[in-house]
Amino acid sequence: MVDKVLLAEPRGFCAGVEMAIKALTWMVRIFEPPVYCYHEIVHNASVVGAFERAGVVFVDEISAVPPGAPVMLSAHGSSPAVVAAASVRSAVMVDAVCPLVTKVHHEVKRMAAGGFDIIYVGHEGHDEALGTVAQAPDRVTLVDPSAGLGTFRSGGSGPVALVAQTTLGLYEWQGVLQEASDRYPDLWTARKSDLCYATTNRQAAVEILARRSEVVLVVGSENSSNTQALVRVAAAAGCAAHRIDGPGSIDPAWLEGVRTVGITAGASAPDQSVRAVIDAVGPRRGVEMVTVTEEGEYFPPPPQLRALLGVLQSAVEAGVTARWPGRPGPLDDDRSWDATRALDLLAD
Ligand code: SF4
Repeated sequence: MVDKVLLAEPRGFCAGVEMAIKALTWMVRIFEPPVYCYHEIVHNASVVGAFERAGVVFVDEISAVPPGAPVMLSAHGSSPAVVAAASVRSAVMVDAVCPLVTKVHHEVKRMAAGGFDIIYVGHEGHDEALGTVAQAPDRVTLVDPSAGLGTFRSGGSGPVALVAQTTLGLYEWQGVLQEASDRYPDLWTARKSDLCYATTNRQAAVEILARRSEVVLVVGSENSSNTQALVRVAAAAGCAAHRIDGPGSIDPAWLEGVRTVGITAGASAPDQSVRAVIDAVGPRRGVEMVTVTEEGEYFPPPPQLRALLGVLQSAVEAGVTARWPGRPGPLDDDRSWDATRALDLLAD
């Protein structure tokens, strides 16, 4: 039987995921179903399933959204063509892109306008990579961090910039950064790393867990890039590490003879899943928190949603609409409720 669980802090929902889940919860409360969402709102199967049960239809093409229907764009960020098409097709379009992904989009556009050849370090086919490369497809070359710079060669004597997917493993990024800096002495990179605070904090925490645990369990979905990075960081620190969706995917053989289990979660994994995993592991001597930092980041609702809520509020105050249609959280104090509560509300 397991003696102790070491629980990473921070783990689970980041500010971008909090914002996106709360925004989509507003959408399903304001509009009659179906509400459409371009790409999974976040890469977590249980979150996506909760929204599907609440009447959200996830699509991979804007053309699959009926004309006029409300649509939300995912936290991973979308290409300019998708944003434009959704704006035209839908009467109400809300873009829930994380501001830290938008920061990378701005970097790509600025560097492209400045004539840079841009190396984007990311995972081919991932929603965030698709949206970022599409900001300047003629200037950007995607390289996978596992292959280093690969076959990338600058197109000429012009300057070179290096940007990254926000959820890379820190070691993978540092390896490519070193290689690119050696090859291009005048390389441009963002002063503040493209790897977001949530990625680096969770990786710092899992590295400590890995040093103190015999097994690390990382809660998160298979298509979650930051979850997979946590597994790789723990493994690189010398610990057996497994990604799990929830308690049902724990192989009992992993825990045979094990006394200390580390548990963490990717940025899109709900705390409900983490609690269920701790219950399933059932540590005899309880749970010890392993805290590397406190996170206070907060992202307000997307501007299109704030405008929509403002119009609704005015209509209620003017008596045009009798009441709020199922308000999930306070309008004037968005920090007072969180995505965990939003998911609980969806289940009601
Ligand atoms: S992982 Fe980072 S970039 Fe992605 S949604 Fe969260 S805060 Fe934003």
